[in-house]
Amino acid sequence: MGVSAKSVVTQGVVLSAVDYLDNDKIVSIFTQDFGVISAKIKGVKKGNAKLKFAALPFCYAQFNLATREEMSVITNAVEVESYFKLTQNYDALIIGSAILELVSMVGPSCETEVLFYALIKALHTLAEFTTHHSIVLLRFMLGILKVSGYQLNLQACAKCNKHMKEAFVEPKNGALVCAACAPFGAVEVSSELFDMLRGMIKVDFDNLGQFAITKLQEKEAFLFVQKLCDIHYGRLLNSLKQVMF
Ligand SMILES: [Zn+2]
Repeated sequence: MGVSAKSVVTQGVVLSAVDYLDNDKIVSIFTQDFGVISAKIKGVKKGNAKLKFAALPFCYAQFNLATREEMSVITNAVEVESYFKLTQNYDALIIGSAILELVSMVGPSCETEVLFYALIKALHTLAEFTTHHSIVLLRFMLGILKVSGYQLNLQACAKCNKHMKEAFVEPKNGALVCAACAPFGAVEVSSELFDMLRGMIKVDFDNLGQFAITKLQEKEAFLFVQKLCDIHYGRLLNSLKQVMF
């Protein structure tokens, strides 16, 4: 009488995990083939559970899934790359968590393969960085905006088309506008941060090491990311809330 299960194998990154019943967990995974899915890992809270590692955020593994109508079950997992280093540095952990949150927000509406590649590159880079972690978030955010249809024009004001030294986030549509076109209350992107954005959009994650960000610019960067998340995706990143003020 059992419900027939289909078995599939896919690579994915665990975005989040919640406890379920006494010994199980339900994980949200961004998979290369199916986008964001929920799956159960049975018995994973027992001391010697073999798949403990697969129930932790940032786990990048190849997952064996038994797909059922109600919910898939993870029957096996083999780690592809370890981002353990990332969880050992507070700044990297905050930024990494923000990146996972972004993926869970935009994942369902993005082309899966492009986003998956960007996520892997971003987490890999983040794990290698020892400082300036927010550079990775900024680069990832620019890419996310592009794949979700909100690519920023970093060359000219979206209203008057003039060259911009510093920019402002237009609060209604999230476009970048010049000081003269900015409405009251628009979030400013200073000329330093704006130059950095223009530089980093041209390079891949492998070349982000050339950029440096001060603590002051970092606060500005977080405000910029949160404003765009709010405008385009309707919510703020919880991970950044604790480091912004
Ligand atoms: Zn303008």
